[in-house]
Formats: sequence, structure tokens, C-alpha cells
Amino acid sequence: MFPANLVEATFKQYRTKTTPVIKSPKMTSEEAPPRQILIYGVQEENGSRVQNFALDLTPPPEVVYKSEPDTIDGMNVLGIVIFSATMGIMLGRMGDSGTPLVSFCQCLNESVMKIVAVAVWYFPFGIVFLIAGKILEMDDPTAVRKKLGFYAVTVVCGLVVHGLFILPLLYFFITKKNPIVFIRGVLQALLIALATSSSSATLPITFKCLLENNHIDRRIARFVLPVGATINMDGTALYEAVAAIFIAQVNNYELDFGQIITISITATAASIGAAGIPQAGLVTMVIVLTSVGLPTDDITLIIAVDWALDRFRTMINVLGDALAAGIMAHICRKDFAQDTGAEKLPPCETKPVSLQEIVASQENGCVKSVAEASELTLGPACPHHIPVQVEQDEESAATCLDHCTIEISELETNV
Ligand code: ASP
Repeated sequence: MFPANLVEATFKQYRTKTTPVIKSPKMTSEEAPPRQILIYGVQEENGSRVQNFALDLTPPPEVVYKSEPDTIDGMNVLGIVIFSATMGIMLGRMGDSGTPLVSFCQCLNESVMKIVAVAVWYFPFGIVFLIAGKILEMDDPTAVRKKLGFYAVTVVCGLVVHGLFILPLLYFFITKKNPIVFIRGVLQALLIALATSSSSATLPITFKCLLENNHIDRRIARFVLPVGATINMDGTALYEAVAAIFIAQVNNYELDFGQIITISITATAASIGAAGIPQAGLVTMVIVLTSVGLPTDDITLIIAVDWALDRFRTMINVLGDALAAGIMAHICRKDFAQDTGAEKLPPCETKPVSLQEIVASQENGCVKSVAEASELTLGPACPHHIPVQVEQDEESAATCLDHCTIEISELETNV
């Protein structure tokens, strides 16, 4: 094919640094291959002139194709979370006029829960097949196992730093008290959290520890702990953020700063939505992954180590709630000290009462009225005594017939 006289051919090698071609999907080169250029001269027919040509023989660089998270079309989860929170606040403020929509949402929630209750029976089989599928897809399962080990160690280190340094320091700076003494008081609750992986199941023990060992005001513990067990999950938020970044790295996705901030926000929101039961965080992980366009079925990668990590993050969740109650007790100490001072009444002795008298003063297993019970057991000299005429208005009498309060080991339960 070459024309007449090929008089000169030079083979040259250059090592040049080529910049990776960045396209979408993203393209990078591991290392630039040596550049090879063949230079040859072609003499014209009459021999008057030699024309030089250069032929680039450089082999194409090895390119790795990466899809960038966010290029996958998906839901705007962050938008949904913010809209739902705003909607909930507004409906709460609307009072009676917002009730129909609230009832509709409650009804929808209950029906979905019933569907989930049926579907959950399929869950163990589904998980087995999902994990098996993931393992078969892996080129090198050993490498993934190693990465999974590093991921677990990262989560545990994060939880240790948060639980042993950040939370206690926060407690120390606000209350100026020794956090070690406080944490020693809730040690039993932390062990129960480790054993059950559930902050809700640990709640009664956390109450007990705070009341008996740390002497936190009952009213504060009653308010802070149930709210904390439902929405305050530092450990879960931390774990969800690390897990999302791990899944991105396993898939060779590069997350930019904005995406890392999005993960932090959605992980916090998802932890608020997670229930205080074992592995609830794994379910709300879907929100975090979807928010940055990461594949949700990769959650199956971390299921293998989640049962262990769940125990540690539940401990941190419980510790966070307990320290929050301690901080609240410190902040509100003056208000509660005044209240207690005003309420403090001298103790008085109760009258001996027979079983027949008690039964006669009850209806449907409840006292007919607090005043009657007071009359029965306390003498009029007692400062706790409630005179019958004060309490016996129609409304309170009606309430007493269908509602009573039972005290069980200091935890009040409305029946
Ligand atoms: N098991 C955790 C808790 O009960 C929730 C979770 O992160 O899965 O606090």
C-alpha cells in the first residue's frame, strides 16, 4: 500500500504523561503506557523530495469505566425527608383541621405494616438468595472479605471515639461533672443493649440506672428516655454514613464533598426514622443509598457483619440517651429544685384499710374517685388528703370511671 520508495523509517518511543479522558461514564487510566510513534519518509517518484510521516502506534490505555453515583435516575430522598418533616410539623400545628390527613396517614401506615407482616416470612429466603447472588458476582471474594473486615473495624473505631471521647466530653463541658461516674451508673443498661441490640428493650433498665444510680429526676428521665430511644441514635447515624461510603468504595464510585454532606444529612434523618429494634438501621440504609444514587441491593454485602455491629451501635444509642438525660437534668436543675421545694409535704401515716373497704371504693378495678380513695386511706390531718368536694366535679367523676393510673415500681402506667 505504501507508495514507491520508503527511504527512512524511525521508530521512536516517548514516555508522556497523558491526562485521563474524563467523560460520563467516567474514564481513568491506571498508568499511561509508553508512547510509540513510527516516523517514516516517503520519496517522491522523481526523487526530488522526501516527505515525512508520523504514525502513532501507542496502544490504547487500559481504561476503567466508572459510573458516577447520582447519574442513576432515582428518587429525591432528601427532598422527601425534608418535605415529610415539614408536613408533619405543619399538620401538628393545624390541630383539628389537620386530623383527617393524620388519620389517613395512620391508616395507610397500619395497612402497610400488615402487608409487611406477611412479606416478612419470605425475608430469610430472600436474604439467602441475595447474598448468594452477590458472592457469585464477585471476581475475588477474598478481597471483598478483607474490605468488609476493614469496614467493620472502621465502624467500631468510630463508635469507640464517639462513645468514649465525644459524648463524655460534651457531658463534661456542659455539666462540669465527671462523665466516668455517670457512665459507670448506666453500665448495666449498656450491657443489656449489647445483649439485646435494641434500645427499646433496654429502656426499662436505662430508667432504673438513671433513677437509682445517677439520681436523675424522674420527670426528666420519663421525658428524655422514650424520646431518645425513638429518635436519638448517634450510633446508627454514624454506622449508616460509614456503610454508605463503604458501598461507594466497593463499587469504585468517587464521592465528592457535596455527596458526603448529603450522606451525613440523610444518615442522620434515617437514624431518626429507625426503630429501636435489632437491625432497624439496615432497613433505613436504603434512604441513604438512594439519596446519592448508590445501588441499594449492595446492602446484602454488609448483612454478614451487621448482627455484630448492631450490638455496638445500640450501646452508643443508649449511652447517648442516658447522657442527654444527664445533661437535661443539669440544665433544668434549678426549675426542678424549685418545683420539688413547693411540692414537698411532710409525710403522713396511712390508715389501715380492710379488703372489703377497698373493693367497695372501686368500680371496674379502678378507684371511683381519687378523693374517695384519699378519704379511705388518709386522715383529714394528712397534707396529702384531697377533700371530696374539691375533686368531685362531674368531669373528673366521669374520667375516673373509665380510666385509672397504676404505679408499678415507680413507673406510672395509664390504663
Ligand atoms: N438496633 C438499634 C437500636 O435499637 C437500631 C439500629 O441501628 O439498627 O438502637
